[in-house]
Amino acid sequence: PEVVVWREFDRSKLYTADLESGLHHLLRGELAAHKALAGAELRTLKDFVTVLARLFPGRAPVKKLLETLQEWLASLPLDRIPYNAVLDLVNNKMRISGIFLTNHVMWVGCQGSRPELRGYTCSLWQLFHTLTVEAGARPEALDGTGLEDDPQAVLQTIRRYVRTFFGCRACSEHFEAVAKESMGAVKTTDRAILWLWETHNLVNSRLAGHLSEDPKFPKVPWPTPDLCPACHEEIKGVHSWNEGQVLLFLKQHYSGDNLVDTYAA
Ligand code: FAD
Repeated sequence: PEVVVWREFDRSKLYTADLESGLHHLLRGELAAHKALAGAELRTLKDFVTVLARLFPGRAPVKKLLETLQEWLASLPLDRIPYNAVLDLVNNKMRISGIFLTNHVMWVGCQGSRPELRGYTCSLWQLFHTLTVEAGARPEALDGTGLEDDPQAVLQTIRRYVRTFFGCRACSEHFEAVAKESMGAVKTTDRAILWLWETHNLVNSRLAGHLSEDPKFPKVPWPTPDLCPACHEEIKGVHSWNEGQVLLFLKQHYSGDNLVDTYAA
């Protein structure tokens, strides 16, 4: 049988290795399904890369790659670009110094107990939560992008990415249905953070007991009481969330300060 090497990790931390592995998969795998990018697809990619370039909290060589990709996309006079041009930039064919993104996956907090479980989709959720938290902490980071002063901007950009590019089509259909229902009511960046948390818990409860569930990572309401005791309350014997505490917890858990580089390439 295949030997699975288990990497010890701390569930209260975020791992650079997961976020960078996710970006690698997104930029070199998921986007590659689109041989050419034009029209609404290209606009979606540009906005998503802009959000990443301004808000991704990781290491400098990855940030520089995202900024370079964003500037290149913004400067293009073309309304149609081949995916291979994006790939050349991601692979740093121009050899601009200080740019690097790992070209293999190394899951840590997102590792599964079998190879087909967890991994990319886990890292994508983490990336999305990180982006909503960063946008709340540093709203000025989006100045000059056309996405500033709009508390829904990051969520709507994530929504368009998922609808257009996310390889799991059933996932994107479900997500779009929820977004259509309730994303429009979000009025502040705090609400945007909580909207994504609530929606993620909805997905967790829908998938509990599903074949895709990793037995080592059961689908339960998150954050569990061991991660955030203050998030949980009981009113007349019925569980309820303390949203103020949940918000504080999300801001801490998904902040750049909670990222650790252990196992990162
Ligand atoms: P994930 O749900 O991937 O979560 C990753 C990590 O985020 C967890 O380990 C935990 O640390 C943290 N977390 C958990 N819950 C929350 C929360 N509420 N708020 C903040 N952080 C949290 N799979 C399907 O089979 N069908 C679908 O319809 C489907 N829809 C999806 C839609 C989207 C937008 C995405 C990104 C993924 C979707 N998936 C779907 C995949 C699925 O949600 C999981 O990613 C996958 O099953 C792996 O689960 P996991 O155990 O790694 O935890």
